[in-house]
Amino acid sequence: EVLLDIEQIRKDFPILHRKVNGQPLVYLDNAATSQTPQQVIDAITDYYSRYNANIHRGVHSLSQEATDAYEQARRKIQGHFNAAHPEEIIFTSGTTHAINLVAQGFTTFLSPGDEIWVSALEHHSNIVPWQMLCERSGAKLRVIPMNENGELELDVFKSNVGPQTKLVFVNHVSNALGTINPIEAIIETAHAVGAAVLVDGAQAAPHIVADFQALDVDFYTVSAHKMCGPTGVGVLYGKKDWLEKLPPYQGGGEMIATVSFEETTYAGLPHKFEAGTPNICGGIAFGAALDYLHGIGMQAIQEYEEELLQYATEKLLAIPGLKIYGEAPEKTSVISFNLEGIHPYDVGTLLDQMGIAVRTGHHCAQPIMDFYKIPGTVRASFCFYNTQEEVDRLTAGIDKARQMLS
Ligand code: PMP
Repeated sequence: EVLLDIEQIRKDFPILHRKVNGQPLVYLDNAATSQTPQQVIDAITDYYSRYNANIHRGVHSLSQEATDAYEQARRKIQGHFNAAHPEEIIFTSGTTHAINLVAQGFTTFLSPGDEIWVSALEHHSNIVPWQMLCERSGAKLRVIPMNENGELELDVFKSNVGPQTKLVFVNHVSNALGTINPIEAIIETAHAVGAAVLVDGAQAAPHIVADFQALDVDFYTVSAHKMCGPTGVGVLYGKKDWLEKLPPYQGGGEMIATVSFEETTYAGLPHKFEAGTPNICGGIAFGAALDYLHGIGMQAIQEYEEELLQYATEKLLAIPGLKIYGEAPEKTSVISFNLEGIHPYDVGTLLDQMGIAVRTGHHCAQPIMDFYKIPGTVRASFCFYNTQEEVDRLTAGIDKARQMLS
């Protein structure tokens, strides 16, 4: 069953029509960053061609237009994720910035003896800030373990949380394995002991729409560049109560109400967390990317990608000596694999010569590689513009690499 008009969709992405090393590009590194449709490129060009101005400060018309477009993008993001209030959407430079904002702010809420939990399936950007927070506050870092399939073992978490548990951090989807984590159960368990939950949605948001109010999540982060938007912009969602309690992250213009050398008072939400001139064009283009995704339909995207993942999994497993890491029943759009006795880097290099872009290495998730006792994997990650023909080229390419290298 054809769910999307892929041929039509592919026409929107100029980059998909270029050649790499003499071959038509097969772009399968979508978990690192997604490609950009013409509609988003046009939004960027339009901004710089027609109404480039600083926001929230000018009385002049251009500034007003830019401010309106930026605030409209904030409301699009609010609507997409069903946040209760637009001021709960804080523009950041991306997920990493958003996570650091929360980690820094929590310093004042923690004392020695408190515990922070992270999952074994985390990206480095989701481990290091918490280690730094533990150093500052004396809190202890604990880890929700994973099993061979790449699923989290919630029993360990459930039987060890208590009043000492203050914060839980987990990604919604693992970038290294593609596992969809049971965030509903994690949020419920954490809330039962009064702990806050931050979900890193960087890898989930391109594929699954999280409903912030239904999930009752305290914080959620996304990066526009993984959702057909530009780099350098993303969002921290926080419940209003939490954002009001959390101290500001950076000082500067735009985040203050009054300033004197004796005392400064901070602006209200969301400006308290948006010091300095933001990535105005990026925010607007993020809104355009959401419009684009809605034009296709997130439900259709999800169903198509599930079908493509299943097709690719079957094809790859038929290659002799190929092992897939992470076989959780709930997963999306990522296949991490190795060929027996062959280094992932060698496979990736040969695929690149055939015009096929995959990621090789530890995927910023060294603890997961340590768990499997491997140096890294080859990762093919899919977007809705990928096709079965591209999967066939990937399969043929891997098989050729296998024959050349073994
Ligand atoms: N978390 C996850 C799960 C990711 O996949 C990534 C990007 N690879 C990040 C966080 C970091 O996002 P960014 O680089 O956009 O800040």
